Amino acid sequence: MSIDSEYHRILPGSDILRDWIHTGKEQGSEIYSTPVGVLACQRSPLLRQLDAIVVSSVLSTPPPLAKGAKKVVIAPTIPKGAICLEVCLNDTVIFPEGGGQPSDIGIITTQDGTVWNVLQAKRQGGQAIHYVHIADGNIDRALQIFCAGAQVKVELDQAGFDRRYDHMTLHTSQHLLSALLETRLNLPTLSWSMTSAGPCYVEIPRGMSLEEISSIQAEANRLVFEGRKIHVEVEELDAKARKPVEKTETGRAIGKGLPEDYTGGVNRVVVIDGVDRNPCCGTHLPSLNNLQLFILPQTDALSRSSTTVARLNFLAGPRLISHLASTHSHLVSTSAILSCGTPQVPDRVKLVVDDRRSATKRVEDVELELGKYIATDLIQSLGNTGELFKKHVHRTDDSATALSFLTAISSAFSDEMAKLQSQTPYLIVLTSSPSAHSSTNTNVVFVFGSEDKRVKEVGDALKVKLAVKGGGKGVKWSGKFTGLWKNGKEDVLVEEILDCVA
Ligand SMILES: [Zn+2]
Repeated sequence: MSIDSEYHRILPGSDILRDWIHTGKEQGSEIYSTPVGVLACQRSPLLRQLDAIVVSSVLSTPPPLAKGAKKVVIAPTIPKGAICLEVCLNDTVIFPEGGGQPSDIGIITTQDGTVWNVLQAKRQGGQAIHYVHIADGNIDRALQIFCAGAQVKVELDQAGFDRRYDHMTLHTSQHLLSALLETRLNLPTLSWSMTSAGPCYVEIPRGMSLEEISSIQAEANRLVFEGRKIHVEVEELDAKARKPVEKTETGRAIGKGLPEDYTGGVNRVVVIDGVDRNPCCGTHLPSLNNLQLFILPQTDALSRSSTTVARLNFLAGPRLISHLASTHSHLVSTSAILSCGTPQVPDRVKLVVDDRRSATKRVEDVELELGKYIATDLIQSLGNTGELFKKHVHRTDDSATALSFLTAISSAFSDEMAKLQSQTPYLIVLTSSPSAHSSTNTNVVFVFGSEDKRVKEVGDALKVKLAVKGGGKGVKWSGKFTGLWKNGKEDVLVEEILDCVA
């Protein structure tokens, strides 16, 4: 493939870059790897396959991720225990992660016809390293096949290309979006993230109004419609000429400088004609055509310790289409449940939520009222002997808040006792089970009494004898019992526990 093109331009004075690119046609010379910055995937982003030569291969021994280490970009994860070779080729169409763009995945076909999965690619210094999965676990054979000088075919298969195309549309969109925010609204991009699914985002120093967002959206659409061309300019990186990355007052870097561990020696700038020039190592589409950038019409404020930042979400390309398809299907299924047209969904949902709120309120009121009746009923059977009154009451209740009803009964009980100025000591266990006959039922238990000690004694016994999980404080104890509550068994156990309390 060609080194120079309309898309890939080596700037005057940097002719040496042509020698750095190992095309595989160099006769009889040493095989070396093309540095990251001028890889085939960076020179020709739509290229899907390439004949390549192995420069080196070693068994991969990934260091464990340091505790608290933050992953900068979402890399395709190498499954735990997968044995990989780290393979360096003379050149590649598989992009190693960088510039906020995650690594590609792909395949390598060796001369014996074996197809090997490349699980990820990473930049080490200035080289792209392919993590080649050894599916059969035969390391010796793999090392033999990937010996230096071996001819291979490196390729983005359909899954690899779909993934790459998604990344390209989003990464190029980010450049376009950041450029417009910067030049039209003086809003620098503080950082950006290519998420693994759903909208991506840029972070900017403040929130944006709807008008601002729609003006940026309209401007982006105009440039996409025009199909502005994109090209890449590369030159030899003179280390001394590296400028420090511009920072904001709070010390956050604006944009991206070259990574400090980059040793590839290439300075690369991605240019959107008439719109933007941005140092970047990513793979970018050759034109804005069909980019379909869509900005979600709101910013989310994030507050961090020292700064306030707003997030602007965007979508593009195939991800935009799948996002629209899925949100549309959510909307359609919601409207079917609500039996209304999609435009009526928000009003209908509001109605349902309001109804639900007032129904909940009514249930609470009725429970309070009913709680009083149950409490009064209990008090009537109290007698006036001065002896300890012990009682277990079991209820069937399918409410998710059955415990709060038991609490309401206990509160009504103690209120009523206080009103009557009754001195009779009491110890009461309330239990509640769902109506379903299921071994996964969650039953609730509430114990209350006139003395802490007795309540605790019952609670402790419930834990031991019924395996109730719970705890309490003072004259109240509550817990949960998982399983089917049976009349002849659990009820009897509770009675036994109460019988033991003196
Ligand atoms: Zn970039």
